[in-house]
Amino acid sequence: MPELPEVETIRRDLLSRVVGHSFTGVRVLPGAERIVRWPSPAEFARALPGRRIEDVSRRGKYLLFHLSDGRYLVIHLRMTGALLHRCKDAADDAYLRISFSLDDSSELRYTDLRKLGSMWLVEEPEPIVGKLGPDALEGLTWQGLRSLIDGRSATIKAVLMDQEALAGLGNIYSEEALFVGGIHPRRPGKSLARDELRRLSKAIGEVLLEAMDHRGSSFRDYVDADGREGQHQWHVKVYRRTGKPCYNCGTPIERIKVSGRSTHFCPRCQR
Ligand SMILES: [Zn+2]
Repeated sequence: MPELPEVETIRRDLLSRVVGHSFTGVRVLPGAERIVRWPSPAEFARALPGRRIEDVSRRGKYLLFHLSDGRYLVIHLRMTGALLHRCKDAADDAYLRISFSLDDSSELRYTDLRKLGSMWLVEEPEPIVGKLGPDALEGLTWQGLRSLIDGRSATIKAVLMDQEALAGLGNIYSEEALFVGGIHPRRPGKSLARDELRRLSKAIGEVLLEAMDHRGSSFRDYVDADGREGQHQWHVKVYRRTGKPCYNCGTPIERIKVSGRSTHFCPRCQR
C-alpha cells in the first residue's frame, strides 16, 4: 500500500505536469463506479471538464487537487491504486479504472487492480481529511510525539499507524522508524522515555526522507506517475527481512504480530 513517501513522490511528479492544465473529459470505466465516492460517477464526470488544476497538495496518504472553481478532487490510492500521467496516445495501462483527459493532450490514468481506491469531488476537503493527525513529514518533535501517545495504552506501532494520531505512516515506515529509533514495536506508547521519544521522532523524519530520495518502495504494486517502480525496497532495514541478519548487530530479524499486523524487528537492537 502506498504510504507517505510514495504518495508524496507522485504529488511532486504531478506538480510540474498537471498544474495549470484543465480537465477536458473524464471517463469512469464500467465496474469502477464505486471508486467515485462523491458525487455520483455521472455527476463527477460532468463536473470536472473545464476546471483547471491550481495545485496538488497532500494530507497523509490523500492527494488533493485544488480546482479553479474552488472545489477539490481528493484521491486515496488504498492498496493498489496508481496515478499515471501519460500522453493520450500511449499504450493502454492494465487495470485502468478512471481516465482524466487534460488540455495538453495528456491523460491522468487511475489504475487499480483491486478497485479499493476512493475519489471525491467536494467543496471542502475537511470532512474527508479533517480527522487526520499532523502530517508525519511536518517535523514531528518529541513533545509532539508524546502528545500523540499521552494516556493511550496502545502499542507504539499501533499509534504510529493510526492516521488520526499521525498521518502518513503504514506498516513499512512505522517498522523502519521503530528500528532506527531502537524501540520494540510492542512497547506501550506511554512507556517511552524522553530520550526514546527524541530518537523515534528523529527516526520518523529520517526514514521518510530517505524513502523519498529513493522515490518510494515497490514491494508489490506501487509505481510513480511514469509507471516506474521506486527503489527503497532495496534499502529497508527490517521490513520483510525475517531471518536475515540485522545490519547493526547480525541478530536474525524476527516477525511477530502487533495489533493483528505482521511486524518485523531486531530483538537485540529494539528494546
Ligand atoms: Zn540488531
